[in-house]
Amino acid sequence: MSMIIQRIGVVGAGQMGGGIAQIAAQAGLDVVLVDARAEIAEKGRARVGEQLAKLVAKGKLDAAAQAQTMERLRTAGDVSALADCDLVVEAAPESEAIKRSIFSAVDRVLRPGAILASNTSSISITKLAAATARPTLVIGMHFMNPVPVMKLVEVIRGLATSDETLAATLALAQRLGKTTVTARDVPGFIVNRVLIPLLNEACFALYEGIGTEVDIDTGIKLGLNHPMGPLELADLIGLDTTLAIAEVLHRELGEDKYRPCPLLRQYVAAGWLGRKSGRGFYRYEAGVKVG
Ligand code: NAD
Repeated sequence: MSMIIQRIGVVGAGQMGGGIAQIAAQAGLDVVLVDARAEIAEKGRARVGEQLAKLVAKGKLDAAAQAQTMERLRTAGDVSALADCDLVVEAAPESEAIKRSIFSAVDRVLRPGAILASNTSSISITKLAAATARPTLVIGMHFMNPVPVMKLVEVIRGLATSDETLAATLALAQRLGKTTVTARDVPGFIVNRVLIPLLNEACFALYEGIGTEVDIDTGIKLGLNHPMGPLELADLIGLDTTLAIAEVLHRELGEDKYRPCPLLRQYVAAGWLGRKSGRGFYRYEAGVKVG
């Protein structure tokens, strides 16, 4: 049975959810963007509008496509608006408790046969599937940040995920212009299993005073030919999200080598969450690095 996907729901209208909603609407899908409150979802939609306006200003999108994209993007403050979706992607905070409660609530309202995907960076897809009555239809669909720019979608198969669900998810990612890799449901999957220890080690290098923020980032950028330094990348991801993923790796894999750096914990405790809060390892004004 092949699954036709035309209407998608996105739960969580933050940086990832907004990006996913944007590229889906640009690809001609009907999108419902949901957050915990209608105003937050509306703000997420407004940020998509700003991104599209930038593309128009650069000559990369025409005004008609901009208007049509915005028309395809609706918002809601409640998951009941997702009932007739063909696929829902959850992009709420990296917390197992929050995601499990969203999965169980969406599962109750979503039509039978529709797919329930998570953009989680590290949380077990099998555990999220167990919070629903449709485990064969649950899958990981891990987009990279910023979603409209980054080419990869990492697709994660839970223990019960069906071949049809996997095929439909891979086809959707391709329709959104992405390249896919498939990973087993092991904490951190492929990308964050490798990335998070790198970011955490850069925090330890700062914590131990091996170099300044700029020394560490410049060392890795020019020394390893990375497009961004690890500390500025952690600021982009969000230090709360980076810490949450590091905690999943540490807890679930049970090895000391994944221990989150105390400095990372302290920054998150201070509310220094990176670019989205205006301060992390660097300072930001309106999302632009100022020091
Ligand atoms: P974010 O903090 O920007 O956005 C999270 C959104 O979820 C917020 O708008 C918040 O209001 C909303 N939310 C909170 N509780 C909710 C609920 N109960 N129902 C509906 N919405 C709720 O976070 P983000 O960076 O967009 O990350 C979201 C997910 O994507 C996480 O699982 C994260 O691990 C994953 N991810 C993040 C990145 C990254 O670089 N930031 C990359 C890939 C995957």
